Amino acid sequence: MKILTRIIITLLLMVFITATVASASDVSWSQAEEKVTVFVGFNGAPDAGLVRRFGGEVRREFTLVPVISARMNPKAAEALAKNPHIRYVELDTPVYALQEVPWGVDRVFGPEDYFFPTWNYSRGAGVKVAVLDTGIANHPDLPVVSGGYNALDGTDRYTDGNGHGTHVAGTIAALDNSIGVVGVAPEIRLYAVKVLDDSGKGSVESVVAGIEWAVNNGMQVINMSLGASSGSQTLKDACDIAYAKGLLLVAAAGNNGNPPGKGDNVNYPAKYESVIAVAASDEAGKRATFSSTGPDVELIAPGVKVKSTVPGGTYATYSGTSMASPHAAGVAALVWAANSSLSNLEVREILQGTAEDLGLRAEHQGYGLVRADRAVAAALALGVPPEPGYGAIQGTVTDGTSPLAGASVVVKDTGLFGVTDEDGRYFIGHVPSGSFEVVASHPDCVPATRQVSVSKDATATLDFVLIRRPLMQAGDIRFAVAKRYGSFADITVTVVVLDSANGAPVSGAKVSVTVAHESRNWAFLGNTKSDGTVTFTLKKAPTGAYTATVTDIAHETYVWDEVVKSQEFVLN
Ligand code: CA
Repeated sequence: MKILTRIIITLLLMVFITATVASASDVSWSQAEEKVTVFVGFNGAPDAGLVRRFGGEVRREFTLVPVISARMNPKAAEALAKNPHIRYVELDTPVYALQEVPWGVDRVFGPEDYFFPTWNYSRGAGVKVAVLDTGIANHPDLPVVSGGYNALDGTDRYTDGNGHGTHVAGTIAALDNSIGVVGVAPEIRLYAVKVLDDSGKGSVESVVAGIEWAVNNGMQVINMSLGASSGSQTLKDACDIAYAKGLLLVAAAGNNGNPPGKGDNVNYPAKYESVIAVAASDEAGKRATFSSTGPDVELIAPGVKVKSTVPGGTYATYSGTSMASPHAAGVAALVWAANSSLSNLEVREILQGTAEDLGLRAEHQGYGLVRADRAVAAALALGVPPEPGYGAIQGTVTDGTSPLAGASVVVKDTGLFGVTDEDGRYFIGHVPSGSFEVVASHPDCVPATRQVSVSKDATATLDFVLIRRPLMQAGDIRFAVAKRYGSFADITVTVVVLDSANGAPVSGAKVSVTVAHESRNWAFLGNTKSDGTVTFTLKKAPTGAYTATVTDIAHETYVWDEVVKSQEFVLN
Protein backbone atom coordinates (compact mmCIF):
# COMPACT_ATOMS: atom_id res chain seq x y z
CA MET A 1 0.00 0.00 0.00
CA LYS A 2 2.78 2.39 0.87
CA ILE A 3 4.38 2.43 -2.52
CA LEU A 4 1.11 2.17 -4.36
CA THR A 5 -0.27 5.19 -2.53
CA ARG A 6 2.66 7.30 -3.54
CA ILE A 7 2.37 6.26 -7.12
CA ILE A 8 -1.30 7.06 -7.17
CA ILE A 9 -0.68 10.47 -5.71
CA THR A 10 2.01 11.15 -8.25
CA LEU A 11 -0.54 10.39 -10.91
CA LEU A 12 -2.89 13.03 -9.59
CA LEU A 13 -3.38 14.46 -13.02
CA MET A 14 -6.77 15.55 -14.15
CA VAL A 15 -6.83 12.93 -16.80
CA PHE A 16 -10.23 12.21 -18.21
CA ILE A 17 -10.96 8.62 -17.45
CA THR A 18 -14.05 7.26 -19.06
CA ALA A 19 -15.74 4.32 -17.46
CA THR A 20 -16.95 2.62 -20.59
CA VAL A 21 -16.34 3.24 -24.21
CA ALA A 22 -19.70 2.96 -25.86
CA SER A 23 -19.63 2.03 -29.50
CA ALA A 24 -21.55 4.22 -31.90
CA SER A 25 -24.48 1.84 -31.92
CA ASP A 26 -24.56 1.16 -28.19
CA VAL A 27 -25.60 4.29 -26.37
CA SER A 28 -27.60 2.68 -23.59
CA TRP A 29 -27.53 5.66 -21.25
CA SER A 30 -29.75 7.59 -23.62
CA GLN A 31 -32.90 6.88 -21.58
CA ALA A 32 -32.16 9.93 -19.42
CA GLU A 33 -34.07 13.11 -20.10
CA GLU A 34 -31.65 15.75 -18.85
CA LYS A 35 -28.76 17.02 -20.86
CA VAL A 36 -25.53 15.21 -20.21
CA THR A 37 -21.89 15.90 -20.97
CA VAL A 38 -20.57 13.64 -23.69
CA PHE A 39 -17.37 13.15 -25.62
CA VAL A 40 -17.94 13.06 -29.33
CA GLY A 41 -15.11 11.23 -31.04
CA PHE A 42 -14.63 11.90 -34.77
CA ASN A 43 -13.24 9.67 -37.48
CA GLY A 44 -11.46 12.70 -38.95
CA ALA A 45 -11.14 16.33 -37.94
CA PRO A 46 -13.66 17.39 -35.27
CA ASP A 47 -16.66 19.28 -36.60
CA ALA A 48 -18.28 21.52 -33.99
CA GLY A 49 -21.00 22.47 -36.49
CA LEU A 50 -22.16 18.86 -36.69
CA VAL A 51 -22.44 18.67 -32.88
CA ARG A 52 -24.41 21.93 -32.84
CA ARG A 53 -26.76 20.66 -35.54
CA PHE A 54 -27.72 17.87 -33.12
CA GLY A 55 -28.44 20.48 -30.44
CA GLY A 56 -25.11 20.09 -28.64
CA GLU A 57 -23.59 22.95 -26.65
CA VAL A 58 -19.91 22.66 -27.42
CA ARG A 59 -17.81 22.86 -24.25
CA ARG A 60 -14.33 22.10 -25.43
CA GLU A 61 -12.54 21.08 -28.62
CA PHE A 62 -9.53 18.99 -27.74
CA THR A 63 -6.35 19.25 -29.74
CA LEU A 64 -4.69 16.13 -28.35
CA VAL A 65 -7.50 13.84 -29.48
CA PRO A 66 -10.10 14.40 -32.26
CA VAL A 67 -12.84 14.86 -29.69
CA ILE A 68 -15.36 17.55 -28.77
CA SER A 69 -17.01 17.60 -25.38
CA ALA A 70 -20.56 18.88 -25.40
CA ARG A 71 -23.72 19.13 -23.32
CA MET A 72 -26.56 17.54 -25.17
CA ASN A 73 -29.80 15.68 -24.96
CA PRO A 74 -29.19 11.92 -24.66
CA LYS A 75 -31.51 11.07 -27.51
CA ALA A 76 -29.77 13.59 -29.76
CA ALA A 77 -26.44 12.10 -28.72
CA GLU A 78 -27.73 8.67 -29.68
CA ALA A 79 -28.73 10.00 -33.09
CA LEU A 80 -25.41 11.78 -33.52
CA ALA A 81 -23.59 8.53 -32.73
CA LYS A 82 -25.03 7.01 -35.92
CA ASN A 83 -23.50 9.73 -38.12
CA PRO A 84 -20.72 8.29 -40.34
CA HIS A 85 -18.27 11.06 -39.28
CA ILE A 86 -18.61 9.97 -35.66
CA ARG A 87 -16.37 7.26 -34.24
CA TYR A 88 -18.07 7.15 -30.85
CA VAL A 89 -20.10 9.14 -28.36
CA GLU A 90 -19.46 8.45 -24.73
CA LEU A 91 -20.52 9.87 -21.41
CA ASP A 92 -18.23 12.01 -19.31
CA THR A 93 -17.62 10.56 -15.85
CA PRO A 94 -16.42 12.26 -12.73
CA VAL A 95 -12.76 11.92 -11.80
CA TYR A 96 -11.80 12.31 -8.19
CA ALA A 97 -8.61 13.27 -6.53
CA LEU A 98 -7.37 10.14 -4.82
CA GLN A 99 -6.99 9.77 -1.14
CA GLU A 100 -3.52 9.60 0.31
CA VAL A 101 -2.64 7.62 3.41
CA PRO A 102 -0.21 9.84 5.30
CA TRP A 103 2.96 7.98 6.26
CA GLY A 104 2.27 8.29 9.96
CA VAL A 105 -1.18 6.72 9.72
CA ASP A 106 0.26 3.98 7.56
CA ARG A 107 3.08 3.44 10.05
CA VAL A 108 0.93 3.00 13.13
CA PHE A 109 -1.08 0.32 11.34
CA GLY A 110 2.07 -1.77 11.05
CA PRO A 111 2.94 -3.94 8.07
CA GLU A 112 0.90 -3.00 5.06
CA ASP A 113 -1.44 -5.97 5.06
CA TYR A 114 -2.74 -5.09 8.49
CA PHE A 115 -4.22 -1.71 7.66
CA PHE A 116 -7.51 -2.86 6.24
CA PRO A 117 -7.99 -5.94 8.43
CA THR A 118 -7.68 -3.67 11.47
CA TRP A 119 -10.35 -1.40 10.08
CA ASN A 120 -12.58 -4.42 9.59
CA TYR A 121 -12.75 -4.54 13.36
CA SER A 122 -12.67 -0.93 14.36
CA ARG A 123 -12.80 2.49 12.81
CA GLY A 124 -13.41 4.19 16.11
CA ALA A 125 -17.16 4.26 15.55
CA GLY A 126 -19.01 6.29 18.15
CA VAL A 127 -16.07 6.96 20.47
CA LYS A 128 -16.22 10.56 21.69
CA VAL A 129 -12.92 12.34 21.19
CA ALA A 130 -12.40 15.94 22.33
CA VAL A 131 -9.64 17.89 20.63
CA LEU A 132 -8.51 20.57 23.08
CA ASP A 133 -6.83 22.94 20.69
CA THR A 134 -7.37 26.04 18.52
CA GLY A 135 -10.78 24.75 17.44
CA ILE A 136 -11.71 22.75 14.36
CA ALA A 137 -12.66 24.24 11.00
CA ASN A 138 -15.33 22.73 8.79
CA HIS A 139 -13.55 20.60 6.23
CA PRO A 140 -14.85 18.27 3.53
CA ASP A 141 -12.39 15.62 4.69
CA LEU A 142 -13.34 15.72 8.39
CA PRO A 143 -16.35 14.27 10.17
CA VAL A 144 -18.98 16.87 10.96
CA VAL A 145 -17.98 18.19 14.37
CA SER A 146 -20.50 16.75 16.83
CA GLY A 147 -20.19 19.63 19.26
CA GLY A 148 -17.76 21.61 21.26
CA TYR A 149 -17.01 24.59 23.40
CA ASN A 150 -14.97 27.74 23.38
CA ALA A 151 -13.22 27.74 26.74
CA LEU A 152 -11.76 31.18 26.05
CA ASP A 153 -15.06 33.05 25.93
CA GLY A 154 -17.56 30.47 27.18
CA THR A 155 -19.46 30.32 23.88
CA ASP A 156 -19.93 27.45 21.45
CA ARG A 157 -17.91 29.19 18.72
CA TYR A 158 -15.07 26.80 18.25
CA THR A 159 -13.98 27.50 14.72
CA ASP A 160 -10.25 27.33 14.02
CA GLY A 161 -8.55 30.52 12.88
CA ASN A 162 -5.11 28.99 13.30
CA GLY A 163 -5.02 25.57 11.62
CA HIS A 164 -3.36 23.63 14.42
CA GLY A 165 -6.56 22.10 15.81
CA THR A 166 -7.89 21.22 12.36
CA HIS A 167 -4.59 19.50 11.53
CA VAL A 168 -4.67 17.50 14.77
CA ALA A 169 -8.30 16.53 14.13
CA GLY A 170 -7.40 15.26 10.65
CA THR A 171 -4.75 12.89 11.98
CA ILE A 172 -7.30 11.44 14.37
CA ALA A 173 -10.27 11.30 12.07
CA ALA A 174 -9.88 12.50 8.46
CA LEU A 175 -12.53 10.70 6.48
CA ASP A 176 -12.01 7.54 4.46
CA ASN A 177 -13.43 8.96 1.25
CA SER A 178 -11.90 9.64 -2.13
CA ILE A 179 -10.18 12.91 -1.27
CA GLY A 180 -7.21 14.22 0.64
CA VAL A 181 -5.92 12.18 3.52
CA VAL A 182 -7.27 9.65 5.97
CA GLY A 183 -6.99 9.62 9.75
CA VAL A 184 -6.44 6.79 12.20
CA ALA A 185 -10.06 6.50 13.35
CA PRO A 186 -12.38 8.08 10.78
CA GLU A 187 -15.65 7.08 12.43
CA ILE A 188 -15.21 8.69 15.84
CA ARG A 189 -17.46 11.44 17.14
CA LEU A 190 -15.31 14.54 16.98
CA TYR A 191 -15.63 17.41 19.45
CA ALA A 192 -13.89 20.76 19.14
CA VAL A 193 -12.87 22.34 22.43
CA LYS A 194 -11.19 25.64 21.74
CA VAL A 195 -8.74 26.29 24.55
CA LEU A 196 -6.16 28.11 22.41
CA ASP A 197 -6.82 31.35 20.53
CA ASP A 198 -6.16 31.85 16.84
CA SER A 199 -2.51 32.63 17.57
CA GLY A 200 -2.21 29.25 19.31
CA LYS A 201 -2.09 30.66 22.82
CA GLY A 202 -4.16 29.73 25.83
CA SER A 203 -3.74 29.47 29.56
CA VAL A 204 -4.11 26.92 32.31
CA GLU A 205 -7.52 28.48 32.92
CA SER A 206 -8.75 27.73 29.40
CA VAL A 207 -7.25 24.21 29.38
CA VAL A 208 -8.82 23.34 32.73
CA ALA A 209 -12.15 24.74 31.50
CA GLY A 210 -11.78 22.54 28.41
CA ILE A 211 -11.06 19.44 30.50
CA GLU A 212 -14.06 20.28 32.68
CA TRP A 213 -16.28 20.55 29.60
CA ALA A 214 -14.97 17.19 28.33
CA VAL A 215 -15.75 15.48 31.65
CA ASN A 216 -19.21 17.05 31.88
CA ASN A 217 -20.08 16.13 28.30
CA GLY A 218 -19.19 12.45 28.35
CA MET A 219 -15.99 12.55 26.35
CA GLN A 220 -13.89 9.35 26.35
CA VAL A 221 -10.60 10.55 24.87
CA ILE A 222 -9.03 14.00 25.25
CA ASN A 223 -6.22 14.99 22.92
CA MET A 224 -4.05 17.84 24.14
CA SER A 225 -1.48 18.81 21.55
CA LEU A 226 -0.39 21.64 23.80
CA GLY A 227 1.80 22.22 26.77
CA ALA A 228 3.80 24.45 29.02
CA SER A 229 7.20 23.99 30.60
CA SER A 230 5.85 24.52 34.09
CA GLY A 231 2.97 22.85 35.83
CA SER A 232 0.12 23.96 38.02
CA GLN A 233 -1.69 22.31 40.91
CA THR A 234 -5.03 23.16 39.29
CA LEU A 235 -4.05 21.60 35.97
CA LYS A 236 -2.71 18.48 37.68
CA ASP A 237 -5.85 18.05 39.77
CA ALA A 238 -8.08 18.57 36.73
CA CYS A 239 -6.17 15.88 34.78
CA ASP A 240 -6.13 13.48 37.72
CA ILE A 241 -9.87 13.85 38.32
CA ALA A 242 -10.73 13.48 34.62
CA TYR A 243 -8.62 10.31 34.54
CA ALA A 244 -10.26 9.00 37.71
CA LYS A 245 -13.63 9.63 36.06
CA GLY A 246 -12.68 7.28 33.23
CA LEU A 247 -11.41 9.57 30.49
CA LEU A 248 -8.17 8.83 28.65
CA LEU A 249 -5.92 11.87 28.40
CA VAL A 250 -3.31 11.99 25.63
CA ALA A 251 -0.90 14.89 25.26
CA ALA A 252 2.11 16.05 23.26
CA ALA A 253 5.34 15.40 25.17
CA GLY A 254 6.64 18.77 24.00
CA ASN A 255 9.10 20.16 21.48
CA ASN A 256 11.84 21.02 23.96
CA GLY A 257 14.15 18.14 23.10
CA ASN A 258 17.74 18.52 22.01
CA PRO A 259 19.71 16.59 19.37
CA PRO A 260 21.50 14.25 21.84
CA GLY A 261 18.17 13.66 23.60
CA LYS A 262 19.45 14.59 27.03
CA GLY A 263 17.59 15.85 30.05
CA ASP A 264 14.05 15.79 31.34
CA ASN A 265 12.06 18.36 29.41
CA VAL A 266 8.60 16.83 29.00
CA ASN A 267 5.91 19.50 29.08
CA TYR A 268 2.82 19.78 31.26
CA PRO A 269 0.18 18.34 31.23
CA ALA A 270 1.91 15.44 29.42
CA LYS A 271 4.28 15.04 32.37
CA TYR A 272 1.50 14.13 34.81
CA GLU A 273 1.02 10.47 35.58
CA SER A 274 -2.65 10.70 34.63
CA VAL A 275 -1.75 11.82 31.09
CA ILE A 276 -0.12 9.81 28.30
CA ALA A 277 2.94 11.74 27.06
CA VAL A 278 3.57 11.14 23.36
CA ALA A 279 6.97 11.78 21.78
CA ALA A 280 7.55 12.25 18.04
CA SER A 281 9.33 9.91 15.62
CA ASP A 282 10.32 10.44 12.02
CA GLU A 283 9.84 8.22 8.99
CA ALA A 284 13.14 6.45 9.64
CA GLY A 285 11.96 5.42 13.11
CA LYS A 286 14.25 7.85 14.92
CA ARG A 287 13.25 10.30 17.62
CA ALA A 288 12.63 13.75 16.16
CA THR A 289 15.44 15.90 17.53
CA PHE A 290 12.89 18.41 18.86
CA SER A 291 10.91 15.75 20.72
CA SER A 292 11.03 16.20 24.49
CA THR A 293 12.74 13.49 26.51
CA GLY A 294 12.49 12.16 30.03
CA PRO A 295 11.11 9.37 32.18
CA ASP A 296 7.51 10.51 31.65
CA VAL A 297 7.58 9.82 27.89
CA GLU A 298 5.08 6.97 27.55
CA LEU A 299 4.66 6.39 23.82
CA ILE A 300 6.13 7.61 20.57
CA ALA A 301 4.22 8.27 17.34
CA PRO A 302 4.85 9.85 13.95
CA GLY A 303 5.44 13.58 14.33
CA VAL A 304 7.68 14.70 11.48
CA LYS A 305 6.27 15.91 8.16
CA VAL A 306 2.73 14.86 8.95
CA LYS A 307 0.19 15.76 6.30
CA SER A 308 -3.32 16.55 7.47
CA THR A 309 -6.32 18.83 7.10
CA VAL A 310 -6.20 22.60 7.57
CA PRO A 311 -8.88 25.32 7.28
CA GLY A 312 -10.06 26.29 3.83
CA GLY A 313 -10.62 22.69 2.78
CA THR A 314 -6.92 22.21 2.14
CA TYR A 315 -3.99 20.24 3.56
CA ALA A 316 -0.64 21.04 5.08
CA THR A 317 2.40 19.21 6.42
CA TYR A 318 3.42 20.02 9.99
CA SER A 319 5.98 18.61 12.40
CA GLY A 320 5.83 18.43 16.18
CA THR A 321 4.80 16.27 19.08
CA SER A 322 1.43 17.97 18.47
CA MET A 323 1.21 15.75 15.39
CA ALA A 324 2.31 12.63 17.31
CA SER A 325 -0.27 12.87 20.09
CA PRO A 326 -3.32 12.56 17.77
CA HIS A 327 -1.95 9.32 16.29
CA ALA A 328 -2.03 7.85 19.81
CA ALA A 329 -5.43 9.38 20.58
CA GLY A 330 -6.79 7.87 17.38
CA VAL A 331 -5.47 4.42 18.26
CA ALA A 332 -7.03 4.74 21.72
CA ALA A 333 -10.36 5.43 20.03
CA LEU A 334 -9.93 2.36 17.81
CA VAL A 335 -9.24 0.23 20.87
CA TRP A 336 -12.29 1.52 22.68
CA ALA A 337 -14.53 1.01 19.69
CA ALA A 338 -13.21 -2.54 19.30
CA ASN A 339 -14.08 -3.34 22.90
CA SER A 340 -16.34 -0.90 24.68
CA SER A 341 -16.12 -2.84 27.93
CA LEU A 342 -12.55 -1.65 28.54
CA SER A 343 -11.69 0.91 31.21
CA ASN A 344 -9.44 3.85 30.43
CA LEU A 345 -6.67 2.10 32.37
CA GLU A 346 -7.11 -1.04 30.26
CA VAL A 347 -6.99 0.98 27.04
CA ARG A 348 -3.81 2.63 28.29
CA GLU A 349 -2.25 -0.72 29.20
CA ILE A 350 -3.09 -2.03 25.74
CA LEU A 351 -1.39 0.96 24.10
CA GLN A 352 1.66 0.35 26.26
CA GLY A 353 1.72 -3.41 25.89
CA THR A 354 1.31 -3.42 22.12
CA ALA A 355 3.71 -0.58 21.33
CA GLU A 356 6.55 -1.39 18.97
CA ASP A 357 10.05 -1.11 20.40
CA LEU A 358 11.94 1.19 18.04
CA GLY A 359 15.16 0.36 19.85
CA LEU A 360 15.37 3.86 21.32
CA ARG A 361 16.06 4.73 24.93
CA ALA A 362 13.05 4.56 27.26
CA GLU A 363 13.32 8.32 27.92
CA HIS A 364 12.91 8.83 24.17
CA GLN A 365 10.26 6.32 23.14
CA GLY A 366 8.58 5.19 26.37
CA TYR A 367 7.00 1.81 25.64
CA GLY A 368 7.52 2.39 21.93
CA LEU A 369 5.63 3.31 18.81
CA VAL A 370 1.87 3.15 19.15
CA ARG A 371 0.51 0.31 16.98
CA ALA A 372 -3.12 0.29 15.90
CA ASP A 373 -3.08 -3.26 14.53
CA ARG A 374 -1.69 -4.87 17.66
CA ALA A 375 -3.72 -2.67 19.99
CA VAL A 376 -7.01 -3.51 18.31
CA ALA A 377 -6.09 -7.20 18.26
CA ALA A 378 -5.33 -7.03 21.97
CA ALA A 379 -8.62 -5.27 22.66
CA LEU A 380 -10.48 -7.99 20.78
CA ALA A 381 -8.54 -10.65 22.68
CA LEU A 382 -9.98 -9.36 25.93
CA GLY A 383 -13.14 -11.36 25.42
CA VAL A 384 -15.68 -9.93 23.05
CA PRO A 385 -18.43 -12.48 22.33
CA PRO A 386 -18.75 -13.40 18.66
CA GLU A 387 -21.25 -11.42 16.65
CA PRO A 388 -24.62 -13.12 16.10
CA GLY A 389 -24.47 -15.57 13.22
CA TYR A 390 -20.69 -15.76 13.31
CA GLY A 391 -18.14 -17.65 15.31
CA ALA A 392 -14.78 -16.70 16.74
CA ILE A 393 -11.36 -18.19 17.27
CA GLN A 394 -9.24 -17.54 20.30
CA GLY A 395 -6.11 -18.99 21.77
CA THR A 396 -2.52 -18.46 22.66
CA VAL A 397 0.77 -18.54 20.81
CA THR A 398 3.83 -19.60 22.79
CA ASP A 399 7.28 -20.97 22.09
CA GLY A 400 6.62 -23.82 24.47
CA THR A 401 7.90 -21.98 27.50
CA SER A 402 6.85 -18.36 27.21
CA PRO A 403 4.09 -16.39 25.44
CA LEU A 404 4.91 -14.80 22.11
CA ALA A 405 3.71 -11.21 21.79
CA GLY A 406 3.15 -9.72 18.37
CA ALA A 407 2.60 -13.07 16.65
CA SER A 408 0.11 -12.87 13.81
CA VAL A 409 -2.60 -15.47 13.43
CA VAL A 410 -4.18 -15.46 9.98
CA VAL A 411 -7.32 -17.33 8.93
CA LYS A 412 -6.43 -18.29 5.37
CA ASP A 413 -8.61 -17.09 2.50
CA THR A 414 -10.74 -14.87 4.73
CA GLY A 415 -8.70 -11.73 5.34
CA LEU A 416 -9.29 -12.29 9.05
CA PHE A 417 -6.40 -12.14 11.47
CA GLY A 418 -5.40 -11.56 15.04
CA VAL A 419 -2.24 -10.39 16.73
CA THR A 420 -1.18 -11.71 20.10
CA ASP A 421 -0.92 -9.44 23.11
CA GLU A 422 1.78 -9.47 25.78
CA ASP A 423 0.32 -12.68 27.22
CA GLY A 424 0.42 -14.37 23.84
CA ARG A 425 -3.38 -14.28 23.52
CA TYR A 426 -5.31 -13.55 20.36
CA PHE A 427 -8.96 -13.30 19.44
CA ILE A 428 -10.44 -13.32 15.95
CA GLY A 429 -14.11 -12.41 15.81
CA HIS A 430 -16.64 -12.40 12.99
CA VAL A 431 -15.51 -15.75 11.56
CA PRO A 432 -18.12 -17.47 9.40
CA SER A 433 -19.00 -21.12 10.12
CA GLY A 434 -16.76 -23.64 8.43
CA SER A 435 -13.39 -25.29 8.45
CA PHE A 436 -10.31 -23.12 8.08
CA GLU A 437 -6.54 -23.31 7.88
CA VAL A 438 -5.00 -20.95 10.39
CA VAL A 439 -1.37 -19.87 10.23
CA ALA A 440 0.50 -18.49 13.21
CA SER A 441 3.77 -16.72 12.58
CA HIS A 442 6.33 -14.76 14.51
CA PRO A 443 9.60 -13.32 13.23
CA ASP A 444 11.71 -15.48 15.56
CA CYS A 445 9.84 -18.73 14.94
CA VAL A 446 8.95 -21.25 12.27
CA PRO A 447 5.34 -20.59 11.17
CA ALA A 448 2.77 -23.27 11.97
CA THR A 449 -0.52 -24.14 10.30
CA ARG A 450 -3.48 -25.77 12.03
CA GLN A 451 -7.03 -26.64 11.04
CA VAL A 452 -9.99 -25.35 12.98
CA SER A 453 -13.72 -25.82 12.75
CA VAL A 454 -15.82 -22.78 13.58
CA SER A 455 -19.52 -22.96 14.43
CA LYS A 456 -22.08 -20.20 14.54
CA ASP A 457 -22.27 -18.32 17.86
CA ALA A 458 -19.36 -20.27 19.34
CA THR A 459 -15.74 -19.54 20.10
CA ALA A 460 -13.22 -22.17 19.01
CA THR A 461 -9.96 -22.44 20.92
CA LEU A 462 -6.78 -22.90 18.91
CA ASP A 463 -3.40 -22.73 20.63
CA PHE A 464 -0.09 -22.70 18.83
CA VAL A 465 3.34 -23.72 20.03
CA LEU A 466 5.91 -22.35 17.61
CA ILE A 467 9.45 -23.62 17.32
CA ARG A 468 12.02 -20.91 17.77
CA ARG A 469 14.23 -20.67 14.74
CA PRO A 470 17.92 -21.20 15.27
CA LEU A 471 20.10 -18.15 14.77
CA MET A 472 22.60 -17.94 11.98
CA GLN A 473 25.37 -15.52 11.13
CA ALA A 474 27.80 -14.72 8.39
CA GLY A 475 31.04 -16.63 8.95
CA ASP A 476 34.05 -16.17 6.72
CA ILE A 477 34.03 -13.97 3.65
CA ARG A 478 36.81 -15.21 1.37
CA PHE A 479 38.23 -13.57 -1.74
CA ALA A 480 40.14 -15.53 -4.37
CA VAL A 481 41.57 -14.73 -7.77
CA ALA A 482 40.08 -17.26 -10.18
CA LYS A 483 41.71 -16.03 -13.36
CA ARG A 484 44.14 -13.23 -14.17
CA TYR A 485 44.09 -11.02 -17.27
CA GLY A 486 46.96 -8.53 -16.85
CA SER A 487 45.61 -5.71 -14.71
CA PHE A 488 42.19 -7.41 -14.48
CA ALA A 489 41.05 -10.61 -12.83
CA ASP A 490 38.00 -12.77 -12.19
CA ILE A 491 37.59 -12.58 -8.42
CA THR A 492 35.40 -14.93 -6.42
CA VAL A 493 33.76 -13.93 -3.15
CA THR A 494 32.68 -16.83 -0.96
CA VAL A 495 30.44 -16.32 2.05
CA VAL A 496 29.91 -18.99 4.69
CA VAL A 497 26.71 -19.00 6.73
CA LEU A 498 26.86 -20.69 10.11
CA ASP A 499 24.43 -21.77 12.78
CA SER A 500 25.26 -19.43 15.67
CA ALA A 501 24.70 -22.12 18.30
CA ASN A 502 27.00 -24.85 17.03
CA GLY A 503 28.94 -23.34 14.13
CA ALA A 504 27.48 -25.86 11.68
CA PRO A 505 27.07 -24.70 8.07
CA VAL A 506 23.56 -23.59 7.10
CA SER A 507 22.25 -24.81 3.77
CA GLY A 508 19.67 -22.92 1.74
CA ALA A 509 20.27 -19.48 3.25
CA LYS A 510 19.62 -16.55 0.91
CA VAL A 511 22.58 -14.19 1.14
CA SER A 512 22.76 -10.59 -0.08
CA VAL A 513 26.24 -9.23 -0.63
CA THR A 514 27.50 -5.93 -1.93
CA VAL A 515 31.05 -5.49 -3.15
CA ALA A 516 32.45 -1.99 -3.35
CA HIS A 517 35.42 -0.85 -5.42
CA GLU A 518 36.43 2.71 -6.23
CA SER A 519 35.20 2.22 -9.80
CA ARG A 520 31.81 0.61 -9.12
CA ASN A 521 29.65 -1.50 -6.82
CA TRP A 522 28.27 -4.98 -7.32
CA ALA A 523 25.22 -6.47 -5.62
CA PHE A 524 24.70 -10.22 -5.45
CA LEU A 525 22.01 -12.52 -4.13
CA GLY A 526 22.50 -16.27 -3.86
CA ASN A 527 21.72 -19.40 -1.85
CA THR A 528 24.14 -21.37 0.26
CA LYS A 529 24.97 -24.95 -0.71
CA SER A 530 25.00 -27.89 1.71
CA ASP A 531 28.46 -26.83 2.95
CA GLY A 532 27.01 -23.43 3.94
CA THR A 533 28.86 -21.51 1.24
CA VAL A 534 27.72 -19.36 -1.63
CA THR A 535 30.18 -17.97 -4.17
CA PHE A 536 29.85 -14.90 -6.37
CA THR A 537 32.21 -13.92 -9.17
CA LEU A 538 33.38 -10.44 -10.17
CA LYS A 539 34.25 -10.86 -13.84
CA LYS A 540 37.29 -9.03 -15.21
CA ALA A 541 37.54 -6.82 -12.18
CA PRO A 542 40.22 -4.09 -12.13
CA THR A 543 43.07 -3.78 -9.63
CA GLY A 544 42.40 -1.93 -6.40
CA ALA A 545 40.74 -2.40 -3.05
CA TYR A 546 37.49 -4.31 -2.64
CA THR A 547 35.13 -4.47 0.32
CA ALA A 548 32.52 -7.21 0.43
CA THR A 549 29.64 -6.71 2.89
CA VAL A 550 26.96 -9.22 3.74
CA THR A 551 23.89 -7.01 4.02
CA ASP A 552 21.19 -9.57 4.64
CA ILE A 553 20.65 -13.26 5.19
CA ALA A 554 17.24 -14.87 4.92
CA HIS A 555 16.14 -18.42 5.56
CA GLU A 556 12.88 -20.23 5.99
CA THR A 557 13.73 -21.83 9.29
CA TYR A 558 16.58 -19.70 10.59
CA VAL A 559 16.71 -16.12 11.73
CA TRP A 560 19.90 -14.20 11.32
CA ASP A 561 21.93 -13.12 14.26
CA GLU A 562 24.60 -10.74 13.09
CA VAL A 563 24.13 -9.93 9.46
CA VAL A 564 26.42 -7.13 8.56
CA LYS A 565 29.93 -8.38 8.12
CA SER A 566 32.60 -6.97 5.86
CA GLN A 567 35.88 -8.18 4.45
CA GLU A 568 38.50 -6.24 2.49
CA PHE A 569 40.67 -7.46 -0.34
CA VAL A 570 43.26 -5.77 -2.55
CA LEU A 571 43.97 -6.89 -6.11
CA ASN A 572 47.45 -5.69 -6.96
CA1 CA B 1 -10.07 11.49 3.04
